[in-house]
Amino acid sequence: MVDSYWLAEPAPTLRSRRFVGMPEVEIVGGGVTGCACALSLARAGVRVRLHEARTIAGGASGRNGGFALRGGAMRYDEARATIGPERAKALWALTERGLAEIRALAGDAFRHTGSLRLAGDAYELEELKSELGALAADGFGVEWLDDLPPQLAGFAGGIRHLSDGALHPARWVRRLAQHAADAGAEVLEHSPVGALVELSAPAVVIATDGYTSGLVPMLDAVVRPIRNQVIVTEPLEQMLFPIPHYARQGYDYWQQTPERRLIVGGRRDADAAENTAEEELTPLIQERLEAFVGELVGRLPAISHRWAGIFGSSPDKLPLAGAVPAQSGLWVAAGYSGHGNVLGFVCGSLVAAAIVGRAPTALELFDPARVLG
Ligand SMILES: Cc1cc2nc3c(=O)[nH]c(=O)nc-3n(C[C@H](O)[C@H](O)[C@H](O)COP(=O)(O)OP(=O)(O)OC[C@H]3O[C@@H](n4cnc5c(N)ncnc54)[C@H](O)[C@@H]3O)c2cc1C
Repeated sequence: MVDSYWLAEPAPTLRSRRFVGMPEVEIVGGGVTGCACALSLARAGVRVRLHEARTIAGGASGRNGGFALRGGAMRYDEARATIGPERAKALWALTERGLAEIRALAGDAFRHTGSLRLAGDAYELEELKSELGALAADGFGVEWLDDLPPQLAGFAGGIRHLSDGALHPARWVRRLAQHAADAGAEVLEHSPVGALVELSAPAVVIATDGYTSGLVPMLDAVVRPIRNQVIVTEPLEQMLFPIPHYARQGYDYWQQTPERRLIVGGRRDADAAENTAEEELTPLIQERLEAFVGELVGRLPAISHRWAGIFGSSPDKLPLAGAVPAQSGLWVAAGYSGHGNVLGFVCGSLVAAAIVGRAPTALELFDPARVLG
């Protein structure tokens, strides 16, 4: 089936109010970012309307690997070197708090499992050791895996990030949208925004990540779309990979669902053509993913689902979250570079706080002006 396994779960009916008159804030995009922003604004008493062109979670938020990871697109040791130790520590702590909030809101769409980062070779093993040392020194929960089980015999070593979890991402974001609607937001599906002039609110939040909306050309020039493809097997006999696993700097990622289906994604480094906004499958990446499934389980089980999704990358691997420079009333939260399940929730909430005048200091790191000039 060429569709997301997650989105194939029937969506509960979204119960949302309809405003009479003008909203105070309009959000473009109904993924985790837009829904988190809508929830925070509605809780603050703001009249907020969210527009989603397809259905809630119809973009990357319902098409991803389901990994809920702390931190960002950089390893922790890399982040310390790039943005400085204090800011790296603050960012990791911020996302751990985000994970706790997700856990409280998501119900059975979140499982606290931890995640396993594996070394594909000796070079990556050194990277893991460096990350482990930096995390442990700053008090973040992490463990070295001495003995890898037989199904991971091809890897050189691994570390377990204790705070992380596994999401049913579509179930989670649909639930988040309902939380926002229950708090008073107007959530509109099948509501594409063709141009900013169609919107009437004095404040607008662009929450379209890799589905670059064409609404603000300067954002589209900086948040670049990248495609990822995913395949899912029929349930395996055994539970071999019960928690999120990733290796080769995140180019390979896999986990089993509670019903023992194996979800495998990535391999995008095999083809430069994956730097695209086209939500299509390609024979090359599909073959590579099937070959990887074969390596993991020793045979190729029947494949039940295949799909592609698009995420937005930023030039420095940090999100853009905050006010768009020189555009009064325009805000953005996007560009998570493939790590938006937790960061998207955090950034959507932070932008909402900034709109109501709380100006969180955490937003300084994500200031869009640093890359928009
Ligand atoms: C295959 C894949 C695997 C991934 N795996 C992981 C993972 O395991 N862990 C992780 O943390 N991250 C992962 N990511 C990244 C993560 O999914 C994204 O960073 C995150 O979902 C971004 O959420 P968002 O709400 O910002 O954007 P999206 O969920 O992409 O939502 C943007 C929405 O905007 C809508 N839109 C666009 N233009 C308009 C318009 N003009 N009018 C109205 N609506 C519009 C789109 O329809 C879309 O629904 C993965 C991404 C992909 C593609």
